[in-house]
Amino acid sequence: MENVLVVGAGFMGSGIGQVCAQAGCKVHLMDVKAAALDKAMGEIKWSLDKLGSKGLLKDPPQKILERIIPEHDLSSAAKVSWVIEAALEIEALKKQIFKELDRLASPKTPLASNTSTIPITRIAKATQHPERVLGLHFFGPVPLMGLVEVIKGEKTSTAVFEQGVAFVKSLGKTPVQVQRDIPGFVMNRIFSAAFREAADLVAEGITTPEDVDIGMRLGYGWNAGPFEIADNAGLDIYVLVGQTLKALGEENLVSRSDLIERMVKEGRLGRKVGKGFYRYTPEGKRLPWEPKGNG
Ligand code: NAD
Repeated sequence: MENVLVVGAGFMGSGIGQVCAQAGCKVHLMDVKAAALDKAMGEIKWSLDKLGSKGLLKDPPQKILERIIPEHDLSSAAKVSWVIEAALEIEALKKQIFKELDRLASPKTPLASNTSTIPITRIAKATQHPERVLGLHFFGPVPLMGLVEVIKGEKTSTAVFEQGVAFVKSLGKTPVQVQRDIPGFVMNRIFSAAFREAADLVAEGITTPEDVDIGMRLGYGWNAGPFEIADNAGLDIYVLVGQTLKALGEENLVSRSDLIERMVKEGRLGRKVGKGFYRYTPEGKRLPWEPKGNG
């Protein structure tokens, strides 16, 4: 049984911790904020109960939940076989966390980042053992999404990369292998280009989020449109992703308008706060921002 440390217990870290526990791993779920850990444990319980009631779990929800230990520091890095970092998308913060993990963990323990955009090579530079640093880029909501990008940094060893591919499969997910480390990797580069165009068309008043989402569902067979995806992920994350891509010279992947920044300033962060491109009822039902016919 793998023993996994997940750093950051937000939207992604809680989901990653949950799927690791579902696969039988013992999980140390760490966050600097006690409130984030409480929220994560509550959401994991809710999700496990729901999956269990549909017969989608191998073990009883309570047994899976008991495999997850909430923690406030990184000390268990010394005793785990995997570390997955899912803290905020801020390069300096990730480097600081990896420096500390590198000091605490055995040099053989793979250290993975769930970063959306930051090249793994840059994060690995904060460590003495860059050969054990790789990207494991999960998609949210993690318990429902089948894909994980496995990213090879310039110095990631082939053995660690292959360990990453095998670990992802052991979680019941499908790995997509990214052999060269570039900002945004593969999936986020493609999505960012689509989302940039969609956001700019809406900002210019040419169309609405609902029409774009319906169009991408019906015209291109997407399961969810770009604005539905962005609301689920959190618009604050897109602001950070956009800033990171720009800082890395990838302006072409970022919206030209300031629509998303303005929405975040107004508190429209997406589904997690009940308002983003759409409005959400307390039960989580998605409604158009403007009722149809009111312009
Ligand atoms: P989030 O804001 O929901 O969670 C981040 C958590 O990190 C917070 O609970 C915060 O308290 C915690 N944190 C901050 N500093 C920390 C530290 N020093 N040590 C430990 N925890 C710390 O963000 P999220 O959406 O879960 O995103 C996390 C990472 O995953 C980011 O790098 C993001 O780019 C990436 N990602 C996000 C998505 C998505 O759909 N939201 C998808 C793929 C990857």
